Amino acid sequence: MNLLKETAGAKSVAIAGHIRPDGDCISSTLAVRAYLLNARPDLKVTVFTQDNPPTIFSYLEGYGDMNLTYSPKEKYDVFISLDASSPDRLGEALWFFDEADKTICVDHHETNPGFADVNEIDPDACSTCEVLYDTFDKEHINDAVAECLFSGIVHDSGVFQYSNMSKHSFNIVGELIGYDFDGPKIIRETFYEKSYVQNQILGRALLESILFMDGRCIVSMVDRKMMDFYNVLPKHLDGIVNQLKNTRGVEVAIFMYEMGTQRFKVSMRSNGLVNVAKIAMLFGGGGHDRAAGVEMNGTYYDIINALSREIAKQM
Ligand code: 5GP
Ligand code: MN
Repeated sequence: MNLLKETAGAKSVAIAGHIRPDGDCISSTLAVRAYLLNARPDLKVTVFTQDNPPTIFSYLEGYGDMNLTYSPKEKYDVFISLDASSPDRLGEALWFFDEADKTICVDHHETNPGFADVNEIDPDACSTCEVLYDTFDKEHINDAVAECLFSGIVHDSGVFQYSNMSKHSFNIVGELIGYDFDGPKIIRETFYEKSYVQNQILGRALLESILFMDGRCIVSMVDRKMMDFYNVLPKHLDGIVNQLKNTRGVEVAIFMYEMGTQRFKVSMRSNGLVNVAKIAMLFGGGGHDRAAGVEMNGTYYDIINALSREIAKQM
């Protein structure tokens, strides 16, 4: 798929990623914005995102121009969905998707059914930013576009660490670092650096984690009281589940935080033996073989029981 050809006749383009945007989500939406505006400066391009996007990505071009209110409710010629595995993941941007003349979906989730008019979904790609790179004409990639793509790849690959990094992914990174931006600074300041309270809550989550299934699974939970005490938001809890997974002997790590009464956001990570996307899908979520998420109702223990039954079936 060639994104410029697919948007050739359009005068206006709306872009959105998934709710609770992560690095690949913010980066991919801003990459498409910068790319389209570079190739066609006359185009009207709007990036929609949920209120309070992570401020660590404020260095990306277009960060301050994002529409956080989903208004005015105008129809766009084309809607581009990025990094969202299903329409419900678009949140309030779904209205613009439904109303657009043409819809395009670029993603790398294996659970994505291809819900747009034109779909480019590559489950082997490490990130949506990797898929995007292949849809871009290289002459319209400038420093700002390259910086966005690099940031998305860094975040979805855990700094090139996860098995989703292929030779092709590394080749793309090699091309991108030829542009003018500070890659090591992006890695240090957006991936590794945490605020003091973020590190404190990470410490609490690790301290209170529980091993089960003979040490092959680990779970931890942060409730509302703890989040209020440390004054942190859900977006500040990114990375805790990965640290849990780094426990020797662990095949599956589960991290959850309380969204409301008897409602939890669950994140799962696997070392490869268990396909956690399959388990997330059973409960209405999705993701990748080794990284998936879902929102679930019940008590903390109900949810652990339900998930561990499914994990056991795969072990
Ligand atoms: P995380 O655990 O970091 O929130 O997400 C891990 C992966 O699962 C990401 O690729 C994310 O897009 C996907 N994911 C997380 N939560 C949900 C969810 O509630 N529904 C779906 N379909 N995918 C999710
Ligand atoms: Mn992604």
